[in-house]
Amino acid sequence: MPVVLQAHPTARDTAVSETRVSAGTVLVAVPCLAQVLLGAEKGRRCDCCLTPEEADLRLRRCSGCGSYWYCDAQCQRAHWPAHKKYCSNFARYTSSPAFAQLQTHQKLDAVLLTHLLAEFAATDTSSEELATFASLLPGPVSGLSCPPTCPLTTSRKSSHSASELYRRCGNNNFAIHSHFTTIAHGIFPLASRLFNHSCLPNAFPKYTFDRQHRVQMSIVAMRDIEAGEEICISYVDPALLDTRQQIFQFTYGFTCTCPSCTALSIIRRTASPPPISEADITSLSTRLVNHVFPRLSSSDLSIALPSTLPSLATLPPSLHVALHESFLTHLTDRFSSASHEGPFDVALESGLAVLALYVLIYPPNYPQIGLHLLELSKTAWNAHVTSPDLGPSTFITDPVHYARVCLDLAQQVLRIVGPEGDPGGPAKELEVLAGLLSGGDT
Ligand SMILES: [Zn+2]
Ligand SMILES: [Zn+2]
Ligand SMILES: [Zn+2]
Repeated sequence: MPVVLQAHPTARDTAVSETRVSAGTVLVAVPCLAQVLLGAEKGRRCDCCLTPEEADLRLRRCSGCGSYWYCDAQCQRAHWPAHKKYCSNFARYTSSPAFAQLQTHQKLDAVLLTHLLAEFAATDTSSEELATFASLLPGPVSGLSCPPTCPLTTSRKSSHSASELYRRCGNNNFAIHSHFTTIAHGIFPLASRLFNHSCLPNAFPKYTFDRQHRVQMSIVAMRDIEAGEEICISYVDPALLDTRQQIFQFTYGFTCTCPSCTALSIIRRTASPPPISEADITSLSTRLVNHVFPRLSSSDLSIALPSTLPSLATLPPSLHVALHESFLTHLTDRFSSASHEGPFDVALESGLAVLALYVLIYPPNYPQIGLHLLELSKTAWNAHVTSPDLGPSTFITDPVHYARVCLDLAQQVLRIVGPEGDPGGPAKELEVLAGLLSGGDT
């Protein structure tokens, strides 16, 4: 493992790279200690390994509780040492008034905490993973009390109370995603122990599912990392420009002082409110695109992605107003409503403005940039197929060229994260689109 923990005299320890590593390297792989599927995924994935049900895989339900599903007897056996602690009580627990009155996210927390308590009850207390979890810093004290958990059938007295574990759940809880969409929440003690947060992280957690195995988180270097450089991941989506600082304070108990947050706090002191009228939004997005992609023209589509950290500090004051969540939401709504059936010039223009904003907000090679480039490429292809005569008056004169440029960049970015989650997904879409675009149909 090329990652070592360095003690810090005043702040938290930092994980640093021992050697120089290149973009795409898996720095460390960490197994999941306890997890909970989102409601929409329940019964559609194995509760043990998170493999999705498919044509060749029919999940089997636990006959004890009727609430847990498995690939096969092996996955059920692997889950049983912890599951048997609450299996017989689970139906009564979830139909109890105390559980029923919880909000959806509290129910998830309550079941995750139950799973965690069951791990503590089922596993040898000398387990390194449990010890690592128990040693994590608790989150900030909040008004939230510990949710009711399912009674466990165990004679062993737990060395840790539910509320003690609960205080470490909120701030040490990862969103497990497949194709960059959350499907479950999970506890990965070693990852929590090792990696501090940055809104401009140099590493990204991806998840892999393998039958009969625990879910695995792999921390991937998103760019070349020098020996001795700290490795950080982002705890929340950096695009939450207006709300992320509150999330850090309330959920994690710290104030982020990364370069992006520092620049934002200065910008916020003078920035005007985000534009509301369609005309103002269009004018701002044009200026934003011109700033981020200065060499762009409709005939020669030069979109160069930065290879170094983007700097908000050097953003011209006239563009500060673009750094609001509502502006990004407006642009992404405009893009997605036009990207399938048009008007395609609106989709391509607003899509390019979203890309410009992503380049400013996210660090180089962040998957969201690649995913958006894939959407842009698909949109340009749709424009070519459904309205081949977009005409010279429109923003993009050659949609096929545009689709190719975006596809190449999407491949560059998404190749760094590499395979993750379920089979198919963006990697498959890239392949299909590349096939269509190489069909010589120009
Ligand atoms: Zn059961
Ligand atoms: Zn399974
Ligand atoms: Zn930050």
